[in-house]
Amino acid sequence: MKELNIDITLCTTMKKKPAFDRLEFGRNFTDHMFIWNYSVEKGWHDPRIVPYQPITLDPAATVFHYGQSVFEGLKAYHTKNEQILLFRPDQNMKRLNRSNDRLCMPQIDEELALSALQQLVSLEREWIPTEEGTSLYIRPYMIATEPYLGVSPSKAYQFMIILSPVGAYYKEGINPVKIAVENDYVRAVAGGTGNAKTAGNYAGSLKASEIAEQNGYSQVLWLDGKEKKYIEEVGSMNIFFKINGEIITPELNGSILEGITRKSIIELLEHWDIRVVERKITMDEIRQASIDGHLEEAFGTGTAAVISPIGEFLWKNEKLIINDGKIGRLSKKLYDTLTGIQYGNITDPFGWTLKL
Ligand SMILES: *Cc1c(COP(=O)(O)O)cnc(C)c1O
Repeated sequence: MKELNIDITLCTTMKKKPAFDRLEFGRNFTDHMFIWNYSVEKGWHDPRIVPYQPITLDPAATVFHYGQSVFEGLKAYHTKNEQILLFRPDQNMKRLNRSNDRLCMPQIDEELALSALQQLVSLEREWIPTEEGTSLYIRPYMIATEPYLGVSPSKAYQFMIILSPVGAYYKEGINPVKIAVENDYVRAVAGGTGNAKTAGNYAGSLKASEIAEQNGYSQVLWLDGKEKKYIEEVGSMNIFFKINGEIITPELNGSILEGITRKSIIELLEHWDIRVVERKITMDEIRQASIDGHLEEAFGTGTAAVISPIGEFLWKNEKLIINDGKIGRLSKKLYDTLTGIQYGNITDPFGWTLKL
């Protein structure tokens, strides 16, 4: 494992830590952050940990105008025996570079970036909440900083990592969510940027989410951008179905983001000798399965919630209720196993966790 030689400037006064038992997602940030600059002439240079602070950019910086911006999201978990675990962070770094490639942004050395992440989290270990279900959310991201309004890839970039303590996603037990199937707006199209974790995908998704929320639904189900027939994702999560005993998830098609939770669930199920079918699946098929009584479970997967069971789909004024609006047996077992591995309560047969 390569180590990055980082210049460290510690803050003189530490922040007052928030009450760890009622944390709002993404609202509080730790005392320090990591910054690494890139220029075409110098390559990656000047890696540093500095006090958490506003950054200065030229108003013409590419990121403001043409959106060259990618990010990642992962967590550090505090175990019962005072260890700190990261979950498959190498996968986040790999994906960061795939996103970079799609957005014409420079590749980063995955091992050195991971080394920076580990050093920052180590420095901020007091910020990792210890209550059950809590964690330290890690946000690595990269932006284009060249001051130039011509439309071309920026010649300068800044990679940063910030940290935010987060509360338990499920405080009152796991309650399935209601999802509105989106028939007007689309998140991504074939050939677009759907499989890159880039800011613009999120900007474009807000409108549909806002309308769904106004109608009492927590998120939208995204269909393919061409025929609005095939299921792609749910909110900013991947999606799985259990239909008549079979586990199905949409196949990666270029417009679906390849989630690390998705990948882990497929590998976990295969470890249990349960085959996961990755294929195209239509909303018509889900409706028919629901009518036939074969739609047993549906759930979203992502780092924030791990598993988010779905209790209802609203599609063209018709409500499809799943498992009486309760969490399914498989969803629960997957949730317990994955979080068990992440928090070090279950032995990790895959080598997924990285001890700090
Ligand atoms: C990040 C993300 C996911 C989930 O990825 P994980 O690695 O499992 O957290 C799914 N869909 C979209 C659109 C995402 O941005």
